[in-house]
Amino acid sequence: FGKQQQQQHIRHMSTGAKIPLGLKRKALRVVVTGGAGFVGSHLVDKLIARGDSVIVVDNFFTGRKENVMHHLGNPRFELIRHDVVEPLLLEVDQIYHLACPASPVHYKFNPVKTIISSSFHACLLTTNVVGTLNMLGLAKRVGARFLLTSTSEVYGDPLQHPQKEEYWGNVNPIGVRSCYDEGKRTAETLAMDYHRGELVNVRIARIFNTYGPRMCIDDGRVVSNFVAQALRKEPMTIYGDGNQTRSFQYVSDLVNGLMRLMESEHVGPFNLGNPGEFTMLELAEIVKEVIDPDAKIEFRENTEDDPHKRKPDISKAKDLLGWEPKIALRDGLPRMVSDFQKRLFGDHKEKLS
Ligand code: NAD
Ligand code: UDP
Ligand code: UDP
Repeated sequence: FGKQQQQQHIRHMSTGAKIPLGLKRKALRVVVTGGAGFVGSHLVDKLIARGDSVIVVDNFFTGRKENVMHHLGNPRFELIRHDVVEPLLLEVDQIYHLACPASPVHYKFNPVKTIISSSFHACLLTTNVVGTLNMLGLAKRVGARFLLTSTSEVYGDPLQHPQKEEYWGNVNPIGVRSCYDEGKRTAETLAMDYHRGELVNVRIARIFNTYGPRMCIDDGRVVSNFVAQALRKEPMTIYGDGNQTRSFQYVSDLVNGLMRLMESEHVGPFNLGNPGEFTMLELAEIVKEVIDPDAKIEFRENTEDDPHKRKPDISKAKDLLGWEPKIALRDGLPRMVSDFQKRLFGDHKEKLS
């Protein structure tokens, strides 16, 4: 037998990397912009659970205090009401930059509000552009790692299917959606420029349609619309003929992917999405199965430039991050439904029957 004892290891919670036993992982100071929102609040839960100190920066444009209320009073949690369009001085190790008025009712139907911040002081500058610039400036000053939550919308109405990260996309620069698509494309550009020019340690995630508990009930996204409509006994509104496709990812899968990416040594961009692809007609059928077999559907005129299909190629995230989603739509949907039931009707389940 050799003299040296074999070193024992534990696995790092988010990366799966081996950590020698006895070496405790250093708790990090992490900022989550947009942390009171849907995705951000789930990310905060996981960061707090692994022992980090978390500062949420949010202007509550689409986010809600209720999403993070359960951490108030925890000395490792701080909530700051702040618009990222304004500069921000903090000392942190990591920045997850999620802040963005991302819900369709706020950009498809009110584009000016997305592209021009409500902040009077920066009235000509955008949340995606100026907010991202400020957070990159912060990352540069304190040497923090910076993760941008970009979107599958950067692929526009894609001519390649499924979409790989190498695809440059097919975006209408002057359409109703372009405030969101082009805002995120510019945010990616800024992140890469700060990476190349200022040596900021950046990470880029391109997130595909995500659903789960705490989604805004009336923000106009398709899963939240269908679930809320079926629960309220209203017809589910299908825009267009319903043959357009999307790929729906459960929020905990996304949060695992974001944390893996942040801890990895890869810049990206990485597609983070569930490759299961559904037409809106199929989605409506699944919501019927889960909530109410008698639910009706109603067809409405579609919005302009609606992408015909969307499905992530996640080979890159699988190979380099060892990540893939685990929760299928039929398994994730019921978890979201019980959250919506509580928020819509309290605990009075009889109202549903
Ligand atoms: P969300 O609207 O629930 O969360 C966004 C949060 O950002 C909200 O809490 C909002 O109040 C905050 N915010 C908006 N503008 C701000 C500003 N100027 N300053 C500070 N805070 C601000 O949306 P989400 O679904 O949780 O999205 C989070 C991120 O993920 C966004 O960047 C979004 O573009 C991206 N994304 C989400 C999806 C999805 O399907 N949910 C898909 C692709 C990309
Ligand atoms: N910034 C910030 N917090 C910081 C450092 C910078 O909000 O801790 C903002 C700053 O106000 C600027 C942006 O980030 O608008 C870009 O900063 P950078 O230092 O890269 O550019 P400069 O200020 O030199 O133009
Ligand atoms: N959609 C729909 N009914 C709704 C809301 C949306 O049929 O009540 C459609 C919309 O036209 C699009 C798809 O569902 O084809 C996804 O829309 P969402 O706004 O959720 O996401 P995105 O278009 O950004 O992928």
